[in-house]
Amino acid sequence: MIAKKQLATLPTPLQELPRLSKALGGPLILIKRDDLTGVGMGGNKVRKLEFLLQDALDQDAKTLITVGAAQSNHCRQTAAVAARLGLDCILVLTEDKAHELDGNVLLDHLYGAEIIWAAEEERNRVFMETAESASREGRKPYLIPVGASNPLGAYAYKAAFDEMQRQIGSREITWLVVASGSAGTQAGLCLGAGLQGWHGRILGISVSSDEHDLKENVAFLANEASGLMEASLRLEPLDILVHDGFRGEGYGLPGDPEWEAMELFARLEGIVLDPVYTARAAAGMISLIREDFFRRGETVLFWHTGGQPALFSDRYTKDYQKFTERRLAAMRG
Ligand SMILES: *Cc1c(COP(=O)(O)O)cnc(C)c1O
Repeated sequence: MIAKKQLATLPTPLQELPRLSKALGGPLILIKRDDLTGVGMGGNKVRKLEFLLQDALDQDAKTLITVGAAQSNHCRQTAAVAARLGLDCILVLTEDKAHELDGNVLLDHLYGAEIIWAAEEERNRVFMETAESASREGRKPYLIPVGASNPLGAYAYKAAFDEMQRQIGSREITWLVVASGSAGTQAGLCLGAGLQGWHGRILGISVSSDEHDLKENVAFLANEASGLMEASLRLEPLDILVHDGFRGEGYGLPGDPEWEAMELFARLEGIVLDPVYTARAAAGMISLIREDFFRRGETVLFWHTGGQPALFSDRYTKDYQKFTERRLAAMRG
């Protein structure tokens, strides 16, 4: 057993999406609500941080230091768990043209995190320098990688897979669809599935990396987590399923398919997706249903990984407004 610090509200709900399923005319769609993990407005990083934080507490750490994009959900969740446990938190965030106090950044401030802005190319150097100076100052830093995707973080999603299996019981799930970024989430799910000899298949929808790199990362992290639990299972990149064809204009840049998916989930099920990860994964899933890749009679489980606070940042509210204007202009011909 690998120890964790209990932080999340688990199990997260597993629900059916009957109206969305009917509207798409394809498989039955289920949803696993990891947007409801309960700490700091939720999301998949809380599960990972339960395991990383136990490790940090075991090492008597006093300051969490991590790194991410300006609207990083991972950084926001790290800031929240630090507050909850009475630790300091330093976030090294990628410089955005206007780093306004909105969306996740607003929450980072509320949770009392210290924010250091760094240009993309400088970020890793600034991260290491921040760690060194925190060490010198006796602040006992604990470093958390991008997305908390290390072996412990991946292991958390092996445990999440087991949780889902207990909820499903004897129901047959043919596909599991999840947004995949720094790969830890998909790695843990694939490890859990592999260890249980699960018959369903797991498809990661890439939000940034190309298929080759993402498969390598997923397999690597799955194997590291397998080693951590002294299991003998090893996965090859070839065993991992990734679709990198829904990346549009790139990371953090939602297009029409993402906004359409957001509206479908919101209008048919009252569920809010996030513009960077889950809307992209949902757009991918919807496209694969329309192409008859996922078929009627099958059951697809969509794993909601959270991220909604980013929606309330200026850049995404403006982006959605532009989308509605584009649609109106198209309707007028
Ligand atoms: C981080 C994140 C992901 C991706 O998880 P990885 O383990 O980095 O692949 C998906 N969705 C949301 C909302 C996230 O914040």
